Order: sequence, then structure tokens, then C-alpha cells
Amino acid sequence: MKHFETELPEGYEPVCEIDAKNRKTVVLMNLAGLLIFLLVLLPFVLVIGFRELFMIGRGKLLLFYAVFFGGLILYVILHELVHGAAYKLLTRRKLTFGISLSVAYCGVPGIFVYRKTSLIATLAPFVVFTAVFLPLALFVRTPFLRIAFILLLCSHVCGCIGDLYGAYLMLFRLRDPKLLVRDTGPKQTYYLPE
Ligand SMILES: [Zn+2]
Repeated sequence: MKHFETELPEGYEPVCEIDAKNRKTVVLMNLAGLLIFLLVLLPFVLVIGFRELFMIGRGKLLLFYAVFFGGLILYVILHELVHGAAYKLLTRRKLTFGISLSVAYCGVPGIFVYRKTSLIATLAPFVVFTAVFLPLALFVRTPFLRIAFILLLCSHVCGCIGDLYGAYLMLFRLRDPKLLVRDTGPKQTYYLPE
């Protein structure tokens, strides 16, 4: 299976782009992310109860902050490293990483990757960290840890919003296997032959 092209083949045209530095995109993604955060939280609230869910326990508030915020920072870094690992395994090309207050990213800017390769690299962190956080959120019983893991699960799914949108485009709207994607990190451009 061919994973990428080093140059855009003749006849290809850009058909779509996701730019995480475009203000309108940022606002829309944040709103969609917030909605997804609440949707993931909702079943836990319904099953456990709002008061019980946020009952952290005497003297455990600092521990909760440490696990949640520490976990969140670690998660943002590991999320990008999983994208990077998938890109590296599939393309062996030079990667780019970046982080700011509004966006963290990993891309492989020098090449144009095929649809399947892009799908794998795009969805890898979503799959990996859902497998990590979901069991923790479901089965950990210590109250301050449970709420920390539930909020980490919500943050994770919310943080994958850009990846999920990219995957949605490739799974449902840009299904042509000839699709090529240039991922500079904050921006993904999708190309198809005319
Ligand atoms: Zn991502």
C-alpha cells in the first residue's frame, strides 16, 4: 500500500481544508467541542447523580486537581505523540509539532498522504485514549479519581473534535482512495484529481 506522494501529482486540486488557526473554525470547533463534552458527561450524571458525581471527598480536592490537570497536560502531549507515532510508522518522514493555548498539533508537512494513511494517523489518538479513559471512568470507584477520569474522558473526546471532523470528511464525504491530504499540523488540506 502506497502511503504518500512527495509531490502533488498533476491534475489534483484542493477540495477542502480544516484550518485550526482560522478564527471562525476555532469558534465553531470550540462550540462543537463543548457540546460533545457535555454529551459525554451526561450519561455519567444520569447514572451516578450530579451531586454524587462531584462529591470529591474531604481533603481530596488538591489530589483531584493534581490528577485532572496533570493528566490533562500529559494527555495533550501524548495525544500529539500518538499522531506522530502513526505518521512516523507509516511514512518515516519528518514531523512537525506545536502547541499554543488554543491548539496543539502534529503534522507531516513535506508530503501528501493517501486517505487510508491519513485516516489511521487522524484517528489513532481517539482510539488509543478512549481505550485508556473509558474503563477508568467506568470502573474506578474512589470518588476523586472517578470524577477526574470522567472529566479527562470528556476532555479527550472534546479535544478530538478536529480529528473527528477530519475523519468524518474522509469517511463520508471524501471517500475516493485517490484522496491526498497535506497536514502541516494546524491545517489539513484535502486534494482530489479533477
Ligand atoms: Zn489530534
